[in-house]
Amino acid sequence: MEQLNRTLHGIKARGNAGLFIGGEWRAPGAGGALLDVVAPHNEELLLQYAEATIADVDLAVAAAREAFDRGPWPRLSPQERGAQLRKVAALLKARMPELAEAWTGQVGAVIGFTSKASYQVPGLFDYYAGLCDTYPFVDERTRSSGGKVRVVAEPAGVVAAITPWNAPLVLLCYKVAAGLAAGCTIVAKPSPETPIDAHILAECIAEAGLPAGVFNMLPAGREVGDYLIRHAGIDKVSFTGSTAAGKHIARTAADRLARVSLELGGKSAAVILEDAKIENVLPSLVPYSMPITGQVCFSLTRVLTPRSRRDEIVEAYTSAVGKVKVGDPFAADSGMGPLAMQRQRDRVEGYIEKGRAEGAKIAMGGGRPASLNRGFFIEPTVFVDVEPTMTIAREEIFGPVVSFIDYDGEEDMIAKANATDYGLHGAVYTGDPEHGYAVARQMRTGSVTVNGMIVDIEMPFGGFKQSGLGREGGIEGLETYIETKTIYFA
Ligand code: NAD
Repeated sequence: MEQLNRTLHGIKARGNAGLFIGGEWRAPGAGGALLDVVAPHNEELLLQYAEATIADVDLAVAAAREAFDRGPWPRLSPQERGAQLRKVAALLKARMPELAEAWTGQVGAVIGFTSKASYQVPGLFDYYAGLCDTYPFVDERTRSSGGKVRVVAEPAGVVAAITPWNAPLVLLCYKVAAGLAAGCTIVAKPSPETPIDAHILAECIAEAGLPAGVFNMLPAGREVGDYLIRHAGIDKVSFTGSTAAGKHIARTAADRLARVSLELGGKSAAVILEDAKIENVLPSLVPYSMPITGQVCFSLTRVLTPRSRRDEIVEAYTSAVGKVKVGDPFAADSGMGPLAMQRQRDRVEGYIEKGRAEGAKIAMGGGRPASLNRGFFIEPTVFVDVEPTMTIAREEIFGPVVSFIDYDGEEDMIAKANATDYGLHGAVYTGDPEHGYAVARQMRTGSVTVNGMIVDIEMPFGGFKQSGLGREGGIEGLETYIETKTIYFA
């Protein structure tokens, strides 16, 4: 908590200047609600701050608009922008322990995980800085009739970047690093529950000396967010969050055909083939079926097992999950922390109840850990005898609740893996990686890992079906911030 306390001290020292707009820290306008940031492991208040208002949104959009329409940022060469992004990356790197503690303190993700996963924050800035050097922003082409053409990558404009609370800064940096590399300017609205790491990012961007208005940050709730996505000054909305909010945003943006990219929910399947060795399954399935206490969009929450091997696999999995220590997320030996907030625990407990009521059987967990009476803790919970039609097999629970579904033969397996409105990620476990590849090709999902679990910031990530629209990460993640312009020489 030492690093986090220092960060909090820095934020509080700015008084109520909690917004970063037009290159300056500003106090929110009058009338914003007072919001609490609560540590989910002990329910203590970390920070109270005034929410941004719609008047602040107007200011932030005006600053980003000015920076885009008349400022230097979109007019710099990509290489010049890349050099600035590398400065941001270096500053973020120096603050990695703070980033990890802010993540753990606000969300309850264990420090062993956040200390490692925080590398993605500077990593995204470094990666997109690299693409500034190599991406063909101006592509010289020749028409079949011989005329000269330049196909140029123009920035999409002023971007509203809206993010959830579960991996707050990593998810924001996918948007900010790629958007800035493309030459866009940004109004970021982080989740109201997790503003602390967005403050750290704004501090690093200010210190790196990016031009005023290029990055603006205002933590606020959904009403202010809704005003932001409707704003005529916003050219593109880049959203990560629930499928329900994503649909609303797509409908709203359609009115003015604002560009939209959406990273939404998931119900990803891990399919275990007959020939998979359990010792090759558990090292990735155990952590990635319930990462951040199951509050990750790509969690492998449905495990499909051949009926003949079901008992053996469930026993090995529950025995391995049983060894994960649930407790204080700041303790080095904790493998799972609490859920991020009271309403998350209410939601997860509601789904556990529904699973029982619809006839699934609990193989482990199902309640609250007896020894932890402060914090929003819940036991890792495993259901067996789950049918694809049950609510727990269809809806995103966003908690440490895993459903085991039996299958009979590969056709049944593929049908069950795809029997969901979502299509974000998946895993195939098999002794034959090429067979795994063939199965992966049949899964209607944005990414699949054969024999493990990988999400790499340098590769595209995103959803089929109701898991989203567009891709983040990789070259594709840059291209979502680009409008293609074709210039002919007659
Ligand atoms: P949420 O949709 O409630 O909120 C996400 C963000 O959107 C918050 O900043 C919120 O204030 C804002 N928001 C909500 N309604 C809005 C509206 N009408 N207009 C503008 N802004 C609005 O989601 P959450 O509970 O914070 O996050 C959990 C969800 O996010 C899960 O469904 C999870 O799967 C999803 N998620 C997806 C990815 C991905 O990459 N696909 C990554 C992480 C989380």
